[in-house]
Amino acid sequence: MQKELLLFQKLAEKLIKAEKDEPIATPIAPQELFTILPLALEDQPVEDTFFEEALEKLVLSTPRTATRLFFNQLFGGRNPKATLGDLLAVLLNNSMYTYKVAGPQVGIEKEILRKSCDLIGYGKDADGTFAPGGSMSNFMAILMARDAHNETIKNEGVLKKMTAYTSIESHYSTSKNAAFIGIGREQVRYVATNEFGQMSATDLAAKISEDIAAGLQPFFVNATAGTTVLGAFDVLEPISKICKKYNLWLHLDGAYCGSVIFSNKYKHLVKGIELTDSFSYNAHKMLGTPLTCSIILTKHKKYLHDSFSNDATYLYQTDGDDYNLGKTSIQCGRRNDALKFWTLWKSVGTSGLEKIVDQQFHLAEVARDYIKSNPDYTLYSFDDSISICYNYKGIPAQDLCTLLYENATAMVGFGIFRETEFVRLVTINSGNKDEDILSFFKICETFVAENEALFTLKA
Ligand SMILES: *Cc1c(COP(=O)(O)O)cnc(C)c1O
Repeated sequence: MQKELLLFQKLAEKLIKAEKDEPIATPIAPQELFTILPLALEDQPVEDTFFEEALEKLVLSTPRTATRLFFNQLFGGRNPKATLGDLLAVLLNNSMYTYKVAGPQVGIEKEILRKSCDLIGYGKDADGTFAPGGSMSNFMAILMARDAHNETIKNEGVLKKMTAYTSIESHYSTSKNAAFIGIGREQVRYVATNEFGQMSATDLAAKISEDIAAGLQPFFVNATAGTTVLGAFDVLEPISKICKKYNLWLHLDGAYCGSVIFSNKYKHLVKGIELTDSFSYNAHKMLGTPLTCSIILTKHKKYLHDSFSNDATYLYQTDGDDYNLGKTSIQCGRRNDALKFWTLWKSVGTSGLEKIVDQQFHLAEVARDYIKSNPDYTLYSFDDSISICYNYKGIPAQDLCTLLYENATAMVGFGIFRETEFVRLVTINSGNKDEDILSFFKICETFVAENEALFTLKA
């Protein structure tokens, strides 16, 4: 392994230097991928030098998600302590299902879950697990809700039409998950939102009443902390009241911005979180750990266990259920996603996590202030969001984003809200400074000025 560790170090240093010098890797068109890069697999082994060269080429031509010009996704940047944790997890290669195989790593996971549950005031019957991403966390939530609504379904199947509710601005996983759990995509009701993209409690109540009148069985409401496009936070208290009235499971999808629970300044955005039945957040989004690190918590340990445990004598041979985490997970073999979060949390403390979250809102403010003070821009976002949506000089957002990417200038995406398309700048990389945000705007402006022909051509 010594040789590979040295090679790793060499490649890592080259990458980090490249990230500084050229924050955006020159993109390769998919049609040219196999001619430009030595990706083909052959019968015979390759020489060491060729192997190293191939690896270096691959590493240096891969999109650079850790740089100051990557704003394309709801993740970005690189936290060194979290990365160290993930590298160690790979080296240790445990599977998180049993205490016998994962040992103290089980304690790492349990500590994160316990602390998270305490932070949101879930009480003593709470528990949780790590899922392979936010979509799967949402899946686990809707499945627990289904079984909590009717415990016979997991054996007999869905016999009656059950309906789920989520806002039109929520993540698409609710629809997929409705298909997975057997109620069907058509049984998802899309609740209207207000001008800020927040779920309308009035429309929610109306849709539920309608379904009950039609003889259907409402069972689940998905609220969102940080909608995918605008970064809006649904207001929980009125939604919770409706859920209590009709006895519905309330899940809070905090994949994007649920990590505000760590910030004294911003946790008011999820006021009433203790009223929810389950809550998920992605540490790989706001907290900046490597992908994936998604946590699903529930106030009702019983339902987590009831929906996900299966006996298996070949697997569970020692220790109690509490330490055999496979009893509450969706997978069997499961990678250690907890260690990278623990190394981060341990090194910076809860107050350090708070600083990470606050920095993102600060950068968002810097971006909004810049846009507001410049008449060439139109701003569509509001305060308390780290998604900054805008248009520049009326250029179609899709054209601008695509040209910036194709010319290796910046990585930023576009979004749509109520039929308006705009650039969506996501200030999720807490390693960025004020000047990185300002230089992003300058870089884009210069690009537009120097490439006017491209834009008139597209128009
Ligand atoms: C990103 C996101 C998800 C999906 O999370 P993955 O880890 O990508 O599966 C779900 N909901 C919201 C609101 C998100 O932003």
